Amino acid sequence: MDYDIIIGLEIHVELKTSSKIFCGCSNEFGGEPNTRCCPICLGMPGTLPVLNKKVLEYTIKAGLAMQCKIAKFSKFDRKNYFYPDMSKAYQVSQYDLPICYDGYVDIDVGDKTKRIGIERIHIEEDAGKLIHDSNGQESLIDYNRCGVPLIEIVTRPDLRSPEEAKILLETIKSILEYTEVSDCKMQEGSLRADVNLSLKRKGSKSLGVRTEMKNINSLRAVQRAAQAEAERQAGILGSGCEVYQETRRWDDNKGESFIMRGKEEAMDYRFFPEPDLPPVCVDEKFLKAIQASIPQLPRQRRERYVNDLGIPRYDADLITSNKHLADVFERASEVCGNPKLVSNWIMTDIMRRINEKGEEILNSHINGDNLGWILSSMERGEITHASAIQVIDVLIETGEEPGNIIERLGLKVQRDEALVVKAVKEVINKNPQALSDYLSGKEKAVGFLMGKSMAALKGRGDPIQVREILKKELQSYL
Ligand SMILES: [Zn+2]
Repeated sequence: MDYDIIIGLEIHVELKTSSKIFCGCSNEFGGEPNTRCCPICLGMPGTLPVLNKKVLEYTIKAGLAMQCKIAKFSKFDRKNYFYPDMSKAYQVSQYDLPICYDGYVDIDVGDKTKRIGIERIHIEEDAGKLIHDSNGQESLIDYNRCGVPLIEIVTRPDLRSPEEAKILLETIKSILEYTEVSDCKMQEGSLRADVNLSLKRKGSKSLGVRTEMKNINSLRAVQRAAQAEAERQAGILGSGCEVYQETRRWDDNKGESFIMRGKEEAMDYRFFPEPDLPPVCVDEKFLKAIQASIPQLPRQRRERYVNDLGIPRYDADLITSNKHLADVFERASEVCGNPKLVSNWIMTDIMRRINEKGEEILNSHINGDNLGWILSSMERGEITHASAIQVIDVLIETGEEPGNIIERLGLKVQRDEALVVKAVKEVINKNPQALSDYLSGKEKAVGFLMGKSMAALKGRGDPIQVREILKKELQSYL
């Protein structure tokens, strides 16, 4: 292409507070339509909003984790528009004085680190949801999401490829998960991105006209939408036509975008200060307490895993991509004292089960304590590798305590020498052909009898002990 791609993202994030932004209604996802709303979030006359303190705390936490400056003084504004999903006909947002500004996020592109500017993070409320009847005759409105607290993260146009846009969104998602301000469930819409994109002729100083694609709700779709839009604009410019400033809707199934409306400017929304909410003043003590509550973030954790624990970078990348997984890894490593063993298990057996059963198995069934315990039992030779896998499967299925599972299924390694000798002798007696093979010098017969002996012990023998006893028994025939 003869053009540079210029991308900025606007990321809308639902905060996981227990109540809504200005009232006491539940902020939980779902519920029967219109059961989680009240006169305040519906904006009925005579009601007054009160800011949820947690919303302020979570926004500042997200801002600090993205190296933002925090405004000592900020305020709310009304963004006016007409739409049936917002019964007040305005959205409470922040216009000229956002709470967080001027930050950055570092992303890894290949083996390079790139710094992406964060212009601002402001607080706003979500709107309700329109449900269009499939026969095209009726539209229904559910106000449960009305007044759900959101933050909008606006990046600077520092991204230069669709891939970088995806990586940035992934990185920000992981920061928000680590700081626990949002559950970031993209399929439920709690994290969604608008992609602003324009093309600039290589070497030229002037920027091209940009378009905005709204509400994209998967990482892959962000990359695909940006790629398709860059190609669409290049096609228009290549044929000598002009790109129009407009808002578009990305259809991920069709793999193309459609015009929604000509792009409106901020002045079209007639922003004005919200008279019902006082300005927000943040003091040093509140700020310090929030700063102290920020955990170690994914990049720092990854470096620690690689440098201090000797975990391969690829594994450390994967483990830190999910906070629950990283927490399980750290706790299990503490419990069993062998981080490499834990990371090997996570990369293979645990990941496979997450892919099969979903991420919910973490912490609900598997946690750092029980995984660490299972692996250290295996390391001490109390259960075999195969039994450890079996315990994990039962644990995921039933949530039963691992010690009970081992007891109930009799998975403890069988080391009673008399018992092992008896089992081995029986195996030899039952397999005279193998014995005569061994006596005629065929070493392969040992492996065969070893397998039979382990089976006779129901897989619970200690292989080293069984092999020793088997050899001794066989030698007695020589
Ligand atoms: Zn309410």
